[in-house]
Amino acid sequence: MPLATFEMSALENPSDPIFIPMERVNTLIGYYLLIKKLTIAHKLHAEEIGTSVENNPLILLRKGPKNNKSIFIEFGCHGNEIYRVRELLSFPETLSKIKDTYTYYFILTNPDGLILNTRENARGKDINRDFIKFTTPEARALNKFITANKKNIKATLSIHGARLGSKLIHMGKGHKLAKSIKRALRSAELDYPHPYMNEIEEEPGIFGMINPNKKFGTFSEYAESLGIPSCAVEMHKDAIDKHLFLMEMLVGTKKYLENKK
Ligand SMILES: [Zn+2]
Repeated sequence: MPLATFEMSALENPSDPIFIPMERVNTLIGYYLLIKKLTIAHKLHAEEIGTSVENNPLILLRKGPKNNKSIFIEFGCHGNEIYRVRELLSFPETLSKIKDTYTYYFILTNPDGLILNTRENARGKDINRDFIKFTTPEARALNKFITANKKNIKATLSIHGARLGSKLIHMGKGHKLAKSIKRALRSAELDYPHPYMNEIEEEPGIFGMINPNKKFGTFSEYAESLGIPSCAVEMHKDAIDKHLFLMEMLVGTKKYLENKK
């Protein structure tokens, strides 16, 4: 069973003081309104850790007090891969319902790409290839936060959208993490059609491990280079309940961390 259920109606009530019409949720203003609403309603901590090319704030959400059991989740690094932003952006609400001692960080990495509907940032750079040289302000902001907190961050997830099948991608250290996530996804009895579930596949080391000299500068490669297990996930564009998919990713991540002790 999914760890928590999501109340979509919470976002759809016109009598709500911060009501967000459907058509605006895919925009940056919708995103920030949601952030505001969710942080107020669910006591998530919001912190600006940098700004994008277009000077949009990069807002890191945190659930729970800072501790040494942190899971860092970045999404929307590719601005055009968030097919149902509304569900993804509603994830903080689901997060707020989790009762455990982990600290969860959650950030939209490429707000400019979201509004422009582009893979790249507003300067045409692929942020998910920039975690070596850090030429983009977005990658720099994440790097600054993660290097300052790396002792506390035990796992990272990088959320993408795929046009074909869903899959998990991991580098060396993330192998067991990916397996644990896969188990959680497969054992979840999610009550919706999920053809993409069977398409989950692991691609051990499609980046650095086949040719150690070939580094793409992805977020996951970067996290692994810091010794933090990481898993990237490509979610099929037709996956209808992405927030539940994400919940199971967290279940798998937590199981991985618990078994690691
Ligand atoms: Zn992507």
